[in-house]
Amino acid sequence: METFLIAKTDSHAVGLTIGTGVFFMSISTHQLECRVSQTLWKAIEAECKRTGDSVAHVVERALANELDLKHHSLFQVSTSSALVEGVFDGCTSVRDLKRHGDFGLGTFEGLDGEMVMLESVCYQVGSGGTACVVAEETLVPFATVTRFCSDETFQIESAVSFKDLLAQIDQRRPSNNLFVAFRVDGHFREISMRAACKAEPGEKLVDAIGHQSQFHAERQKGTLVGFWAPTYATSIGVPGYHFHFINDAGTYGGHVFDLNGENFQVGMHVETDIHLAIPETQQFLSADLSADHRAALERAENATDKND
Ligand SMILES: [Zn+2]
Repeated sequence: METFLIAKTDSHAVGLTIGTGVFFMSISTHQLECRVSQTLWKAIEAECKRTGDSVAHVVERALANELDLKHHSLFQVSTSSALVEGVFDGCTSVRDLKRHGDFGLGTFEGLDGEMVMLESVCYQVGSGGTACVVAEETLVPFATVTRFCSDETFQIESAVSFKDLLAQIDQRRPSNNLFVAFRVDGHFREISMRAACKAEPGEKLVDAIGHQSQFHAERQKGTLVGFWAPTYATSIGVPGYHFHFINDAGTYGGHVFDLNGENFQVGMHVETDIHLAIPETQQFLSADLSADHRAALERAENATDKND
């Protein structure tokens, strides 16, 4: 079979031999080579023509869809309104959650601590910030996950506060109307956090947060896992920024209130679609989610001893 080179980027390339064509595309460090039928090749060419995308993009997207690896897709379990209303019954397992993402945050059944997922490892942060890897069957009532791959990376030399870090990240965020995931690796001179503690039956979020565990650490190396959500998504996600932390050892973390530090490497991953998994638990189905929960959510997310 005759082959010819259509495109080659670098040594880190994916190559496909297609009918009479070979092409390469840059993805990670893996090389793929395969033959496809003339019909499939014609369909790829037609899709390239229709969308204006490269062959590499079309093939990558098709493979990701087939393998259910939907990059740039946010998977949201339950809604922030339900969380505010105290819908803490688990509706999905950590194992299921990992089918939709390798990066994210949330909480566990009964509001039992903070969830941080990083590189497909799911941590539960409990009282005092102690983190451990959770069992796959652990149930989750609320979570936001994605398959994280940076669209853009940038450095932030230092930040004197969480607000300062977010202001610097803001300069790179493309729009207020997109969901964006951020991974921030760095050295945290100081970091203040909380971990939700198991709620009493029937308790709502604001009351449950009243007995959260708050803690402060110094000289931590680790990662912030977080999202920006637009204001229009108020009753589904947490509008604005929401970050959880996990240290490099995976032993310490929490929901972030404040920090300062330096040498931050920021990865930004823009989401272009959102999948909302609606719980079918009796607790969710019978909850009254008609109220405007913005004020209560804002209070719960930012509640510390200082401002409570
Ligand atoms: Zn949180």
